[in-house]
Amino acid sequence: MQEQLKQLIELQRLESEYQILEREKNAIPKKLRELERDYEQFTGQLTVKKQIYEEGSKEKVVFEQEIRELENQLSRRKRRLLEIKNNREYQACLREIDSIKREIKEKEDQLLELMTSLEALEGEIASGDKELEDRKKLYEEKKKELLGKSADLEKKIKRFESKRKKISQKIDPNLLKKFNFIKDKRNGIAVAPVDNGVCQVCHMNIPPQTFIELQKNERMHNCPNCQRFIYWSRFEERLEEVKK
Ligand SMILES: [Zn+2]
Repeated sequence: MQEQLKQLIELQRLESEYQILEREKNAIPKKLRELERDYEQFTGQLTVKKQIYEEGSKEKVVFEQEIRELENQLSRRKRRLLEIKNNREYQACLREIDSIKREIKEKEDQLLELMTSLEALEGEIASGDKELEDRKKLYEEKKKELLGKSADLEKKIKRFESKRKKISQKIDPNLLKKFNFIKDKRNGIAVAPVDNGVCQVCHMNIPPQTFIELQKNERMHNCPNCQRFIYWSRFEERLEEVKK
């Protein structure tokens, strides 16, 4: 029986390491998605800025055309003013000239405001483009790193699987079935050491008689509380000593 227990302990050790590897590997796709999302978010914001800049530039051209048109109107009115003899018409023309001047002033103010914001956007886009380059490099590096790590883990997992298979073959099929059943029900741990009469996984005391029998190591025992296979913790130390 001692030999079977040894195999179970080894199987559990492998199982625990295997679970860590699995968790690490399963976390990678999420990390990749986060990385991608960050990058896309930044690219998206930059694209929006460029669109706003594009639209603003078109608006600027329209403003400039409108101002030129108003200035033409103004020159025409000023020329007409010289030809008008009638005082009433003269006053009306003056009022028109004032109104056109006001309109020009308004458009020029708006144009100035637009140009200021376009200039700021231009700066933001230039630094954004530069940052995008850096981010792209970093994104690709990290992606490569994560994919490499995933492949590494995959290899390790394959090795664990073959080790696990080898050990499993040495274990009595009924025992193995029970091991897998407990492992699935009990959070991936089916074997627990007992130290000073306490199960080291569920932390409950086991009956003194069971503990005495456990130290004799003659047959398989299970924790009366968590049902895991149990062994005396010193037994593991002895196993280590034998290995040395
Ligand atoms: Zn227990």
